[in-house]
Amino acid sequence: MPDIIQLLPDNIANQIAAGEVIQRPASAVKELLENAVDAGATEVKLIVTDAGKNLIQVVDNGKGMSETDARMCFERHATSKISSIEDLFKIKTMGFRGEALASIAAVAQVELKTRKVDDELGSCLEVENSIVKKQEPCGASAGTNICMKNLFFNVPARRNFLKSNAAEMRHIVDEFIRVAMAFPHIFFSLTSNGQQVFHLESGSLKQRISQILGTSYTSKLVSVSEDTDYMNVYGFVGKPETAKKTRGDQYFFVNNRFIKSAYLNHAVMRAFDEMIAKDSFPMYVLFIDLDPSQLDINVHPTKQEIKFEDEKIVYAFVQAAVKHALAQFSIAPSLDFSLNADIQQMEAVSKPVSGDRMESITSSNLFKTFSQKNQAHKIEGTNRSELRSWKDFYEPSAQPLPSDAYTDTETENTSGQLEYTGYSLLKDEQKQRLLPDAILTQLHAAYIVTPTAQGFLLVHQQQAHERVLYERYSEAVHGKQMPTQQSLFPSTIQLGVSDAVLMQDLLPDLKVLGYLIEPFGNNTFVVQGTPADILQGNEKMAIELLLEQYKHFSSDIKFTKREKLVRCVAKQQAIKTGRSLGQKEMMVLVEELFSCKTPNITPNGSPTYLEFKADYLERMFGK
Ligand code: ADP
Ligand code: MG
Repeated sequence: MPDIIQLLPDNIANQIAAGEVIQRPASAVKELLENAVDAGATEVKLIVTDAGKNLIQVVDNGKGMSETDARMCFERHATSKISSIEDLFKIKTMGFRGEALASIAAVAQVELKTRKVDDELGSCLEVENSIVKKQEPCGASAGTNICMKNLFFNVPARRNFLKSNAAEMRHIVDEFIRVAMAFPHIFFSLTSNGQQVFHLESGSLKQRISQILGTSYTSKLVSVSEDTDYMNVYGFVGKPETAKKTRGDQYFFVNNRFIKSAYLNHAVMRAFDEMIAKDSFPMYVLFIDLDPSQLDINVHPTKQEIKFEDEKIVYAFVQAAVKHALAQFSIAPSLDFSLNADIQQMEAVSKPVSGDRMESITSSNLFKTFSQKNQAHKIEGTNRSELRSWKDFYEPSAQPLPSDAYTDTETENTSGQLEYTGYSLLKDEQKQRLLPDAILTQLHAAYIVTPTAQGFLLVHQQQAHERVLYERYSEAVHGKQMPTQQSLFPSTIQLGVSDAVLMQDLLPDLKVLGYLIEPFGNNTFVVQGTPADILQGNEKMAIELLLEQYKHFSSDIKFTKREKLVRCVAKQQAIKTGRSLGQKEMMVLVEELFSCKTPNITPNGSPTYLEFKADYLERMFGK
C-alpha cells in the first residue's frame, strides 16, 4: 500500500509561485475538480449549496488515497505530482503545488472520505482550522468524496466580502465549465441547492460543446486540427454567422488547462478577419498541446496565465490553423494550400539552417523539439528569399494588384500590350500549383476550370471577382484612392429626400472608391466620374442600385460605413455569372484571386472556388 504524497523540499517550494488559492467558493471548486481529474476519475460530481458558501462537495471515482496520504494531503506543499525541480518542466497534471487542500483546510470545515480501489477500508477525516479533528477507517466508495463546509467560518471579514449568491454561483459555473469542457470523456454533474444544473455524459468534444454552450452550435462548428512535432492545435470554432456581440463563448486550453490570453485571442480574431463584423466575437474552443518544457504555468497563482517559451510561434500556428479550418469549411472537398503556405512562412520551418541560426536553434529549447515532421511542410522549389519575415506574417503585406486588368478586352489582344507569360503575379509555389501554361475553360458562363498540379480548381467567376474587387477597394479606403475616369457626358441623378441625405453622407467615401459625384441642389447629383476600371454607360443605374444595396445591408451586422460601401461596390461590380470570358480574362481573374490575402472566400464567407484533387477524384471513381 504505497503512499505517494511527499512534502516538497524548501528549495522547490520556494520556486513555486505562492498561490493565494482560496478567494471565493469558485476557487475551491476549481481546485477540487482539478484534483478529481488528476486522480484519473471518470465521474465527477459537484454539489453546492448557497453558491458554495455553505457547502462545496466533490465526489469522484478516481484512484483515492491511502490512510497516510489522506492525512498528508492537508499539509502545505504536500503533493504526489512533483518531487524535483526538473519535474516543474514536465508537468502533465492540473495541480503541482500541493497547496490547495492545505488552504481549504485553513478556511473551512472539511470532511474527507477516500478509498483506493484495492483497499478494503477507506479513511474518514475531519479537519477544521488546519487541525485534524478526527481520522478513522471507514467504509467508503472507491475514490474520493470531499466536503468543504462553511467557507471562511473562521475569517468573518472575508466571508463578508463574498458577493451575492447569484454572483458567486456564476463564478462557480464558469470554473465548472472550464474543467468540464477540457475533459469531455469524463462525466460531470453540478447540483446546486438540490437541483441539477449540469449533467454532462461523457462523449466527444463536439458533444460536450453542445451540452455546455447549447445545441444552436451543433451544426455550426468548424473542426480545427493541425499536428506538428512542436505543437498540436485542435478543437472547434463557430462558423462566422454564429459570432456574437459578447465574448462569452471563447475557450483556450493549453495542455488541457484553461487559460486567458488576449494575445492568442487576437490570433483567432485575425483568422476571422473580414468574415465577421469588427465588434463581434467568434465562438471557439481550442486546445493547444505542446511539450510542457515549452511553457511556464507557474507565473500566476491560479495558473490562468502562462508563459510560452516562444509565443510568436504559438500565435502564428493558432492563426494559421483556424484560417485553414475556415477555408476548409467553405471549400469542400479539400484545400490545403493556405495552411502550408502559412506554416511555411514560420521562420522555424522556412529558413535554411545556417551558421549563427544553428547556434540560436541549439541554444533555444524551442527548437530542440522542432523536428523533421515540421520540415516536411516545406514545398520543394520555393524561393526562400521571398518568404516573408515574422513581422510580415502578422501584418501581411499588401499584394500588388493591377488596377486596369479588366479594361483589357479581346480587341486589345492584338496590341500586344498585355502579353501574359503565365501567372506573373503569383509566388512560385502557387504558380507551380496552378500550371502556368494550362488552358482554362469556362463552363456555363459561370465557372472557370483551372488545372493544378494535383487536380483542378472550379473557380466561381462572380464570387472570385467579388473577392478581388473587395480587396482592391479595401486597399483604396485605407489610403490609395482609386483612379477616376471622367465621364464625357456627365449624367444627373434625381433622388428621393432620404436617399439624397444618404448620398450626401456617402460622397467622401464614394470619392475614395473612384466615384466623382457632385451635389447639384434639390436632391440632384451629377456623376462626373466613375472608377477607372468599370464599364461606362450605366453609371446612373449602377449608383441607384448601389444605394439600394447599401440600405439593405444587414443592419444587425455593424460594419463601418466604408466597409459596407466597399462590400456593396465589390458585389455590384463583380463580373456576373452569364458573362463569357476570354482566355486572358480568365487568366487575370484567377491570378488576381490568388494574389488576394484571403482568396478562398467572398467577403461574406461563400467559397470562391472548389478544389478537386487527384486522390479525391480517384476515390470518386472507385480507385
Ligand atoms: P496538488 O494538487 O497541487 O498536488 P492539493 O493540495 O490539491 O495539491 O492535493 C494534495 C495531494 O492530495 C495531491 O497531490 C494528491 O496526491 C492528493 N489528492 C487530492 N485530491 C485528491 C483526489 N480527489 N483523489 C486522490 N488524491 C487526491
Ligand atoms: Mg490540487
